[in-house]
Amino acid sequence: MENILELKSLLAIPKDIVITTHRNPDGDAIGAALGLQHYLTQLGHTVKVAIPSEFPHFLSWMPGIHDILVYDVAPEEVKSTLERPDLIFCLDFNSLERIDKMGEIIASLKCPIVLIDHHLYPEPFAKFVLHDVTASSTSELVFDFIVSLGDRDKISITVAECLFTGILTDTGSFKYSTSPKLFRLVADLLELGVDDAKIQNLVFNSMDEKYLRLLGHVLNNRMEVLDEYRTAIITLSKQDYEKFQINRGDTEGLVNYLLQMKNVVMAAFIHEQPTITKISLRSKGEFSVQEIARKHFRGGGHKNASGGYSYIGLRPTVKKFKEILPEYQQALLNNDL
Ligand code: 5GP
Ligand code: MN
Repeated sequence: MENILELKSLLAIPKDIVITTHRNPDGDAIGAALGLQHYLTQLGHTVKVAIPSEFPHFLSWMPGIHDILVYDVAPEEVKSTLERPDLIFCLDFNSLERIDKMGEIIASLKCPIVLIDHHLYPEPFAKFVLHDVTASSTSELVFDFIVSLGDRDKISITVAECLFTGILTDTGSFKYSTSPKLFRLVADLLELGVDDAKIQNLVFNSMDEKYLRLLGHVLNNRMEVLDEYRTAIITLSKQDYEKFQINRGDTEGLVNYLLQMKNVVMAAFIHEQPTITKISLRSKGEFSVQEIARKHFRGGGHKNASGGYSYIGLRPTVKKFKEILPEYQQALLNNDL
C-alpha cells in the first residue's frame, strides 16, 4: 500500500470503522473480516462487521461471528451502521456490485475506503489499496497489512486463528495458491498459538447428516460429465433446496468434488437462488475460468475459481453454459493437468 503512512496516522485516533465483505461469504471473507476487526478493536477503535448475506454454518464457532450484521436479515441496522462511519474496509472483493444494496450506500459515502483483496481487476473505488493477485487469500494480506503498520506484535491468538481459517479455506487446506512466503507466515501463526488440527476439525468435520446425504444425492443424480469438453456439471433446483432443507452455505465445496475426476479440467456448479441462478466455476492448471465468468455470467474471480450469475433461470443457464463450451474446447483438451 503506497499511502500506508497516511492510513497509519488516521488510525492513530480512535475511529468508527465498518468492515464489509462479499455476498455468500466464504472462510477467507469471514476470517479476514473478523481477524481485522479483533486487531482494530484492540487498537481502541469501534469496529462493526456488516455483510450482505449470511455466513455458512461451518464458521459459526469463530470468535465474534454472532455479532456480524447481515443486510438480508436486518437491513435497517446495517443502514444505520453505514450512516456515518469514519472509515470503511472492503475485504475479499473488488467491485461494489458484489455487495448489492450495501455497495450503493457505500458509493454515496464521503469517508475513505480501504480495499484489501486478491481478485483480478480491482475497480477504483478505494483511497487505500492493498491488492495482490498472487496472495493465497485476503487473510494473508490482512496479516501483511498489520505487519506493514508496524504491529506484528499486536497479532493476538484470536486474530491469528481468524487469519489461519481464511488461509486454510482459500487454499483448500494448502493445496492451491501456496508459496514459501505463505508457509512462513503460517508458521508465524502457529508460533502465536494457533492449533491447526483443532481448526481443521472445526471447519471440515462439522457437517450435519443432511449435508452428506445431499452430497450423495448430488453426485448420484445431479452430476453430468461431458468427456469431450473435460467438463463436469452439478445442477441444483429450488425443489432440491426444499427437499433437502439446505441453506446456501450447505453447498459450499460441492463443486470441488468434480475436479477429483482424473480427466476433468473444468467444474461447474449451477444452482437456483431466490432471484438469480448462480454459477460457480473451478478449473485445474492453466485453464482460466475467470474469463468465462466475466464474459458470460456477469462475474469474475480467479483463474481457477470464479463465479457469476444470470437472471434467465436454471435450465437456460445450463444450456447457455453448454453452448459456450465449443469455444473453449481446444484449451480444455490442451490443458496440461
Ligand atoms: P464461489 O464459486 O465459491 O461462489 O466463488 C469463487 C470465486 O469466484 C470467489 O472467490 C469470487 O472471486 C468469484 N465470484 C463468485 N461469484 C461471483 C460474482 O457473482 N461476481 C464476481 N465478480 N466474482 C464472483
Ligand atoms: Mn479470498
